[in-house]
Amino acid sequence: MKKLAEFYRGKAKTVYTTDDPHFVILEFRNDISMLDGKYLKQFDRKGMINNQFNYIIMQKLLRSGIPTQIERVLSHHETLVKKLKMIPVEFVVRNRAAGSIVKRLGIKEGQILDPPLYDLFLKNDSMNDPIINASYCRTFGWVSEVHFAKMKELTYQTNHILKNFFDDAGLILVDFKLEFGLFNDEVVLGDEFSPDVSRLWDKKTLKKMDKDLFRQSLGGVIEAYEEVARRIGVSFN
Ligand code: UDP
Repeated sequence: MKKLAEFYRGKAKTVYTTDDPHFVILEFRNDISMLDGKYLKQFDRKGMINNQFNYIIMQKLLRSGIPTQIERVLSHHETLVKKLKMIPVEFVVRNRAAGSIVKRLGIKEGQILDPPLYDLFLKNDSMNDPIINASYCRTFGWVSEVHFAKMKELTYQTNHILKNFFDDAGLILVDFKLEFGLFNDEVVLGDEFSPDVSRLWDKKTLKKMDKDLFRQSLGGVIEAYEEVARRIGVSFN
Protein backbone atom coordinates (compact mmCIF):
# COMPACT_ATOMS: atom_id res chain seq x y z
CA MET A 1 0.00 0.00 0.00
CA LYS A 2 1.58 3.30 -1.10
CA LYS A 3 1.05 6.50 0.92
CA LEU A 4 0.07 9.32 -1.42
CA ALA A 5 -1.14 12.82 -0.52
CA GLU A 6 -2.36 14.49 2.66
CA PHE A 7 -6.14 14.34 2.49
CA TYR A 8 -7.24 15.84 5.81
CA ARG A 9 -5.39 17.32 8.79
CA GLY A 10 -7.26 17.05 12.10
CA LYS A 11 -6.18 18.28 15.52
CA ALA A 12 -4.18 15.17 16.44
CA LYS A 13 -4.20 13.00 13.31
CA THR A 14 -3.48 13.44 9.63
CA VAL A 15 -5.25 11.31 7.01
CA TYR A 16 -3.39 10.32 3.83
CA THR A 17 -4.76 8.82 0.63
CA THR A 18 -3.22 5.61 -0.70
CA ASP A 19 -2.98 4.00 -4.13
CA ASP A 20 -6.17 2.09 -3.23
CA PRO A 21 -9.22 4.43 -3.14
CA HIS A 22 -10.90 2.24 -0.47
CA PHE A 23 -8.14 2.73 2.11
CA VAL A 24 -6.50 5.67 3.86
CA ILE A 25 -3.64 5.97 6.35
CA LEU A 26 -4.18 7.54 9.79
CA GLU A 27 -1.07 9.23 11.14
CA PHE A 28 -1.20 9.84 14.89
CA ARG A 29 0.78 13.02 15.58
CA ASN A 30 2.29 14.21 18.87
CA ASP A 31 -0.14 17.15 18.99
CA ILE A 32 -2.67 17.56 21.77
CA SER A 33 -5.31 20.29 21.76
CA MET A 34 -8.08 21.77 23.83
CA LEU A 35 -10.83 24.36 23.48
CA ASP A 36 -11.67 23.04 20.00
CA GLY A 37 -8.10 23.44 18.78
CA LYS A 38 -7.51 26.96 20.14
CA TYR A 39 -4.77 25.66 22.48
CA LEU A 40 -2.18 23.25 21.07
CA LYS A 41 0.87 21.47 22.50
CA GLN A 42 3.16 18.59 21.53
CA PHE A 43 4.23 15.63 23.63
CA ASP A 44 7.02 13.31 22.52
CA ARG A 45 5.80 9.73 21.98
CA LYS A 46 2.09 10.60 22.20
CA GLY A 47 1.39 9.75 18.54
CA MET A 48 3.06 6.39 18.93
CA ILE A 49 1.24 5.59 22.19
CA ASN A 50 -2.20 6.53 20.84
CA ASN A 51 -1.63 4.60 17.61
CA GLN A 52 -0.88 1.40 19.57
CA PHE A 53 -3.63 2.07 22.10
CA ASN A 54 -6.19 2.62 19.36
CA TYR A 55 -5.14 -0.55 17.56
CA ILE A 56 -5.59 -2.72 20.68
CA ILE A 57 -9.03 -1.26 21.43
CA MET A 58 -10.24 -1.52 17.83
CA GLN A 59 -9.03 -5.15 17.64
CA LYS A 60 -10.86 -5.93 20.88
CA LEU A 61 -14.05 -4.34 19.51
CA LEU A 62 -13.70 -6.12 16.17
CA ARG A 63 -13.32 -9.48 17.91
CA SER A 64 -16.44 -8.65 19.96
CA GLY A 65 -18.53 -8.02 16.85
CA ILE A 66 -18.24 -4.23 16.36
CA PRO A 67 -17.43 -3.33 12.74
CA THR A 68 -14.38 -1.03 12.77
CA GLN A 69 -12.37 0.61 10.00
CA ILE A 70 -9.07 -0.84 11.25
CA GLU A 71 -6.90 -2.88 8.86
CA ARG A 72 -3.31 -3.01 10.14
CA VAL A 73 -0.60 -1.00 11.85
CA LEU A 74 1.95 0.26 9.32
CA SER A 75 4.50 1.92 11.60
CA HIS A 76 4.87 3.30 15.13
CA HIS A 77 2.49 6.15 14.36
CA GLU A 78 0.54 5.02 11.27
CA THR A 79 -2.41 2.66 10.76
CA LEU A 80 -4.11 1.57 7.56
CA VAL A 81 -7.91 1.90 7.72
CA LYS A 82 -10.93 1.64 5.45
CA LYS A 83 -11.91 4.98 3.94
CA LEU A 84 -15.29 5.87 5.43
CA LYS A 85 -17.80 8.55 4.58
CA MET A 86 -17.73 10.14 8.05
CA ILE A 87 -20.91 11.28 9.83
CA PRO A 88 -20.44 14.72 11.52
CA VAL A 89 -21.92 13.59 14.85
CA GLU A 90 -20.09 12.62 18.07
CA PHE A 91 -21.63 9.81 20.14
CA VAL A 92 -20.74 10.16 23.83
CA VAL A 93 -21.48 7.70 26.65
CA ARG A 94 -21.03 8.58 30.31
CA ASN A 95 -20.73 6.03 33.10
CA ARG A 96 -19.70 8.68 35.61
CA ALA A 97 -20.14 12.45 35.68
CA ALA A 98 -17.14 14.45 34.42
CA GLY A 99 -16.38 17.31 32.04
CA SER A 100 -19.18 19.20 30.33
CA ILE A 101 -22.05 17.47 32.16
CA VAL A 102 -20.66 18.54 35.53
CA LYS A 103 -20.66 22.17 34.36
CA ARG A 104 -24.03 21.87 32.61
CA LEU A 105 -25.97 20.27 35.49
CA GLY A 106 -23.87 21.32 38.48
CA ILE A 107 -23.50 17.73 39.66
CA LYS A 108 -20.57 16.18 41.49
CA GLU A 109 -17.65 14.87 39.42
CA GLY A 110 -17.46 11.08 39.77
CA GLN A 111 -21.19 10.54 40.40
CA ILE A 112 -22.15 7.12 39.02
CA LEU A 113 -24.62 7.41 36.13
CA ASP A 114 -26.78 4.31 36.06
CA PRO A 115 -28.04 3.62 33.46
CA PRO A 116 -25.23 5.34 31.55
CA LEU A 117 -26.03 8.66 29.89
CA TYR A 118 -25.80 9.18 26.19
CA ASP A 119 -25.12 12.56 24.49
CA LEU A 120 -24.78 13.71 20.89
CA PHE A 121 -22.67 16.63 19.68
CA LEU A 122 -22.36 18.13 16.23
CA LYS A 123 -18.77 18.01 14.97
CA ASN A 124 -18.17 21.69 14.30
CA ASP A 125 -15.17 23.40 15.91
CA SER A 126 -16.19 26.92 14.90
CA MET A 127 -19.50 26.40 16.76
CA ASN A 128 -17.70 24.65 19.69
CA ASP A 129 -19.33 21.26 18.96
CA PRO A 130 -22.90 22.13 20.08
CA ILE A 131 -25.03 19.53 21.87
CA ILE A 132 -27.81 18.08 19.70
CA ASN A 133 -30.22 15.14 19.81
CA ALA A 134 -31.52 12.46 17.44
CA SER A 135 -34.21 14.69 15.89
CA TYR A 136 -31.52 17.13 14.65
CA CYS A 137 -29.80 14.27 12.81
CA ARG A 138 -32.99 13.47 10.94
CA THR A 139 -34.18 17.03 10.26
CA PHE A 140 -30.81 18.21 8.96
CA GLY A 141 -30.15 14.96 7.11
CA TRP A 142 -26.82 14.22 8.85
CA VAL A 143 -27.69 10.54 9.22
CA SER A 144 -30.62 8.35 8.17
CA GLU A 145 -32.95 6.85 10.77
CA VAL A 146 -31.75 3.30 10.06
CA HIS A 147 -28.07 4.22 10.27
CA PHE A 148 -28.68 6.27 13.41
CA ALA A 149 -30.34 3.32 15.17
CA LYS A 150 -27.33 1.14 14.28
CA MET A 151 -24.84 3.76 15.54
CA LYS A 152 -26.68 4.07 18.84
CA GLU A 153 -26.79 0.29 19.27
CA LEU A 154 -23.06 -0.01 18.50
CA THR A 155 -22.29 2.82 20.93
CA TYR A 156 -24.01 1.02 23.81
CA GLN A 157 -22.40 -2.30 22.87
CA THR A 158 -18.99 -0.62 22.79
CA ASN A 159 -19.59 0.76 26.28
CA HIS A 160 -20.47 -2.68 27.59
CA ILE A 161 -17.39 -4.32 26.02
CA LEU A 162 -14.93 -1.61 27.01
CA LYS A 163 -16.24 -1.05 30.55
CA ASN A 164 -15.38 -4.68 31.32
CA PHE A 165 -12.13 -4.55 29.36
CA PHE A 166 -10.86 -1.49 31.25
CA ASP A 167 -12.12 -2.87 34.56
CA ASP A 168 -9.88 -5.91 34.04
CA ALA A 169 -7.00 -3.45 33.51
CA GLY A 170 -7.75 -1.71 36.83
CA LEU A 171 -9.38 1.30 35.17
CA ILE A 172 -12.78 2.98 35.28
CA LEU A 173 -14.16 3.96 31.89
CA VAL A 174 -15.72 7.28 32.94
CA ASP A 175 -16.84 8.44 29.49
CA PHE A 176 -15.81 8.38 25.83
CA LYS A 177 -16.62 9.69 22.36
CA LEU A 178 -17.12 7.67 19.18
CA GLU A 179 -17.45 8.69 15.53
CA PHE A 180 -19.00 6.53 12.84
CA GLY A 181 -18.87 6.45 9.06
CA LEU A 182 -20.29 4.47 6.17
CA PHE A 183 -18.45 1.90 4.07
CA ASN A 184 -20.56 0.50 1.22
CA ASP A 185 -23.59 1.95 3.06
CA GLU A 186 -22.76 -0.09 6.21
CA VAL A 187 -22.19 1.61 9.56
CA VAL A 188 -18.56 1.25 10.67
CA LEU A 189 -16.77 2.65 13.74
CA GLY A 190 -14.13 5.16 12.63
CA ASP A 191 -11.78 7.77 14.06
CA GLU A 192 -9.94 6.65 17.21
CA PHE A 193 -10.26 5.39 20.75
CA SER A 194 -7.51 6.69 23.02
CA PRO A 195 -7.03 8.67 26.25
CA ASP A 196 -7.55 11.77 24.04
CA VAL A 197 -11.22 10.89 23.50
CA SER A 198 -12.08 9.08 26.73
CA ARG A 199 -11.75 9.51 30.48
CA LEU A 200 -9.97 6.73 32.33
CA TRP A 201 -9.48 6.71 36.11
CA ASP A 202 -7.43 4.34 38.20
CA LYS A 203 -9.90 2.00 39.91
CA LYS A 204 -8.24 2.15 43.34
CA THR A 205 -7.08 5.76 43.61
CA LEU A 206 -9.56 7.41 41.15
CA LYS A 207 -6.52 9.22 39.70
CA LYS A 208 -7.12 10.70 36.23
CA MET A 209 -5.10 9.01 33.48
CA ASP A 210 -6.35 10.74 30.33
CA LYS A 211 -6.50 14.08 28.51
CA ASP A 212 -7.96 15.83 31.58
CA LEU A 213 -4.36 15.86 32.91
CA PHE A 214 -3.61 18.22 30.03
CA ARG A 215 -6.92 20.13 30.13
CA GLN A 216 -6.48 20.79 33.85
CA SER A 217 -2.67 21.33 33.72
CA LEU A 218 -2.11 18.49 36.20
CA GLY A 219 1.11 17.22 34.56
CA GLY A 220 2.26 13.66 33.94
CA VAL A 221 0.28 13.40 30.69
CA ILE A 222 2.60 11.09 28.76
CA GLU A 223 3.44 8.99 31.81
CA ALA A 224 -0.30 8.35 32.34
CA TYR A 225 -0.95 7.60 28.65
CA GLU A 226 1.93 5.13 28.70
CA GLU A 227 0.67 3.49 31.89
CA VAL A 228 -2.91 2.97 30.62
CA ALA A 229 -1.52 1.66 27.32
CA ARG A 230 0.68 -0.80 29.20
CA ARG A 231 -2.26 -1.96 31.31
CA ILE A 232 -4.30 -2.88 28.21
CA GLY A 233 -1.39 -4.81 26.72
CA VAL A 234 0.63 -2.36 24.59
CA SER A 235 4.33 -3.25 24.70
CA PHE A 236 6.84 -0.52 23.94
CA ASN A 237 10.02 -1.96 22.41
N1 UDP B 1 -14.78 14.30 23.70
C1 UDP B 1 -14.00 14.24 22.57
N2 UDP B 1 -14.06 15.24 21.64
C2 UDP B 1 -14.88 16.31 21.79
C3 UDP B 1 -15.69 16.38 22.93
C4 UDP B 1 -15.61 15.38 23.89
O1 UDP B 1 -13.27 13.27 22.38
O2 UDP B 1 -14.89 17.17 20.88
C5 UDP B 1 -14.71 13.23 24.70
C6 UDP B 1 -14.03 13.70 25.99
O3 UDP B 1 -12.64 13.40 25.97
C7 UDP B 1 -14.74 12.86 27.03
C8 UDP B 1 -16.14 12.65 26.46
O4 UDP B 1 -16.02 12.86 25.07
O5 UDP B 1 -14.11 11.60 27.17
C9 UDP B 1 -17.18 13.59 27.04
O6 UDP B 1 -16.73 14.90 26.88
P1 UDP B 1 -17.49 16.15 27.54
O7 UDP B 1 -18.84 16.29 26.92
O8 UDP B 1 -17.45 16.02 29.01
O9 UDP B 1 -16.71 17.41 27.03
P2 UDP B 1 -15.30 18.05 27.44
O10 UDP B 1 -15.17 18.00 28.91
O11 UDP B 1 -14.28 17.23 26.72
O12 UDP B 1 -15.42 19.44 26.91
